[in-house]
Amino acid sequence: MASEVLLLIGPAGAGKGTQADALAARKRLTKLSTGDMLRSHVARGSQLGVAAKSYVDAGDLVPDDLIVDMVRDQVSGMEEVRVLLDGFPRTPAQAEALDAMLAEFQARMTAVVLLEVPEEELVQRLLQRARDEGRSDDNEETIRNRMEVYRTSTRPLIDFYRDRGLLHAVDGVGEVDAVTKRIEGALV
Ligand code: AMP
Repeated sequence: MASEVLLLIGPAGAGKGTQADALAARKRLTKLSTGDMLRSHVARGSQLGVAAKSYVDAGDLVPDDLIVDMVRDQVSGMEEVRVLLDGFPRTPAQAEALDAMLAEFQARMTAVVLLEVPEEELVQRLLQRARDEGRSDDNEETIRNRMEVYRTSTRPLIDFYRDRGLLHAVDGVGEVDAVTKRIEGALV
């Protein structure tokens, strides 16, 4: 199989994690979710987890170098890079580091899916997730901060990938299966 690198980008609550699970299974890609990895490090109390915890709890971004090293650890063990990226890159510096990393492993970004959901619905979804899952960063103050961080740090990536002709904007409102079909339709 050829290498393939898909990226799901969008604000917190857009459904990246759910859609990443569905797409990774269908396209036989390994899901790499930096949020999941960080939560696992925090739960284990690893050195990285200890360093990252205060950022995650506040809804701030964990420093780029820690994130890039964490992703590199995963990618470097792969015979062939076939990944679905969920929540990484989140800053222009991470995007540059990812490009360099992919080139090193003879791979390149295949496509980027932007999941679009109105901000009011995002907040409602995240507050519901707080009730269902009890994630420590799903409280109203942190949610607001994550939206702001997305606007200032992550949104510039949309133009970065659009300029390269890689961006596919998909409406993220509706049933999970319907959104998955929309994404698949955008990628063919
Ligand atoms: P997520 O599960 O993707 O919403 O991520 C949860 C939290 O983990 C974020 O609010 C950040 O604190 C941290 N995080 C996840 N991915 C990154 C990343 N690529 N860069 C910096 N921080 C991240």
